[in-house]
Amino acid sequence: MGKGTQADLLHQRLGACHLSTGDVFRAAGKRAECDQSPAMKEATGYMRRGELVPDSTVWEMVRERLGCLHCGGGFILDGFPRTLGQAESLQQLMDAEGIWLSAVLSYELPASEIVARLGGRRTCEKCKAVYHVTERPPKVEGCCDRCDGKLFQREDDRPESIKVRLETYDRSTAPLIEFYTKLGLLVQVAATGSPDEIFDRTVGEMESRRIRVSAHKLWNAGENRR
Ligand code: AMP
Repeated sequence: MGKGTQADLLHQRLGACHLSTGDVFRAAGKRAECDQSPAMKEATGYMRRGELVPDSTVWEMVRERLGCLHCGGGFILDGFPRTLGQAESLQQLMDAEGIWLSAVLSYELPASEIVARLGGRRTCEKCKAVYHVTERPPKVEGCCDRCDGKLFQREDDRPESIKVRLETYDRSTAPLIEFYTKLGLLVQVAATGSPDEIFDRTVGEMESRRIRVSAHKLWNAGENRR
């Protein structure tokens, strides 16, 4: 619900590597059948239904992109971790690699607003720009303002999938709030208003905790020690 847009804005400001597990699964789902591993094919099914992809598949995919965590500009993990198991694996990996997280951002919005926001979301199939049918409509219906690409609705933004996603969040992802609060890393941000307003709030919340949000070295989720 807008976390990808915020991660992208942070990426532009900081020059940090942006790793979105959802984007990787979506890209894999668009490949030809013969180019997809059985685990990736299975992942697409989970995603369409709004369920979480199994930890083992997610972990394998993150490990394959270990280089992102060593990006000189730092890294932003978008949509990962989403379960306690993933968070623990990430912690072990970072300990072994000598890297750490500077902050974990949690965007907060009432469920009714999440449903309205996700249900109206449309994405450009070419450049991935995000629109909303009422809040941020494109100039020409169904057409991207930036690149003229065709806009589509993500399968997991349909009402039945949104319901599953919200239930899954409560069951599997909400426990991470306590996990990262105990580690002193959680930064909660109200996700109301426009993307720019939310971004300004994000930067303000981080700066108030003395987390530097400049292109020097620093992120949404992680900082590279090297
Ligand atoms: P997102 O774009 O982050 O909303 O992710 C879209 C979908 O990809 C999710 O609803 C899940 O089905 C899957 N997914 C993305 N990241 C993860 C993750 N860390 N763990 C499990 N499933 C994930």
